[in-house]
Amino acid sequence: MKEEWKEKIVRATQCSRCHEILDQRILSVYDHEVICMMCKKREEERPDYDDASKDMIRQCLVDTERQYGDPGGFCYHHFYPYTR
Ligand SMILES: [Zn+2]
Repeated sequence: MKEEWKEKIVRATQCSRCHEILDQRILSVYDHEVICMMCKKREEERPDYDDASKDMIRQCLVDTERQYGDPGGFCYHHFYPYTR
């Protein structure tokens, strides 16, 4: 099975929010877009971030049957940055 999310996170060159050139990158729990660490920080400050994360984790388990702590999984990179 081809993992499209991986392609997306590897190929992204710019943050989808602020258009900064990406070094470390991470996925948004809101829309699964590839964003920079600064935008992630801003996302984490949103009052609904915890709820959004929980929903994301639940959905991820259903979709991928992988725990979010699995480093090979889609969910993992919503919480841990991906570095090339
Ligand atoms: Zn950004």
